[in-house]
Amino acid sequence: MGELLVGCHLSTSRGYAAMADDAVSIGATTFAFFTRNPRGGNARELDVGDVAAFLSTCEAHGMGPLVAHAPYTYNLCSSKPETVEFARRAMREDLERMELLPGNLYNFHPGSHVKQGADEGIRLICEGLNEVLEPGQRTCVLLETMAGKGTEVGRSFEELARIIDGVAHDELLGVCLDTCHVADAGYDVVGDLSGVLDEFDRVVGLERLRALHLNDSKNPLGSHKDRHERIGEGTLGLETFAAVVTEPRLAGLPMVLETPQDGLEGWAAEIALLRGMASGEGVA
Ligand code: FE
Ligand code: FE
Ligand code: ZN
Repeated sequence: MGELLVGCHLSTSRGYAAMADDAVSIGATTFAFFTRNPRGGNARELDVGDVAAFLSTCEAHGMGPLVAHAPYTYNLCSSKPETVEFARRAMREDLERMELLPGNLYNFHPGSHVKQGADEGIRLICEGLNEVLEPGQRTCVLLETMAGKGTEVGRSFEELARIIDGVAHDELLGVCLDTCHVADAGYDVVGDLSGVLDEFDRVVGLERLRALHLNDSKNPLGSHKDRHERIGEGTLGLETFAAVVTEPRLAGLPMVLETPQDGLEGWAAEIALLRGMASGEGVA
């Protein structure tokens, strides 16, 4: 098995080159970042020199595919047309900018249907994606598995499969599995990771799985809460993550931490912990 592709969510506030340097400094071999302010305002103009330095650092250190994250404010299935329109326009812009860093991944939350019902939510998400995706784009767009908080769409593998089914250019789509979210959604990754992957394969197809978010959960299975915890300190526990990083069907996928840490040292320690477990040091 190759080296584990693992990293965390990093800040772009000091620029892209500085972000890549941060990734190197903590031993990351992939990472995530927001494509713009997480509140979802206007995107800053990308600095061509900064992006070039970023790309050369990623190349020099053998970074795996990066997993950009859309702001949480995008909602392709809002009941407000102006919110839907904003999400579509912002996603189109984000994907145009992603072409400056070709071959990476762009993850987004499918949306919240705000009492319109999951069927209408799925219809609107498909309509939005059909408008946003450009044939020939070099970025794979990932639907994130959601915890099922409130009216979130994407709370089950079936909902994700229905979205994929409704998109014309589905060759541009994949899934990012968030360990906290799937547990909160009721999938027993603690007791039966292998069975959950079997079910994913049956419903969605494992070839769609392109990235993972590694988060422990503050809440029990099926709680639909979406509160992340540090690795090993929540209801998933270290054994679950040891199983994730040694699971052959997940080998080679970028794995991104979104755990509550106070600074880079915390993620550096989690990355080292996961690498240790992946190399068979086992759970201490
Ligand atoms: Fe997310
Ligand atoms: Fe996530
Ligand atoms: Zn979450």
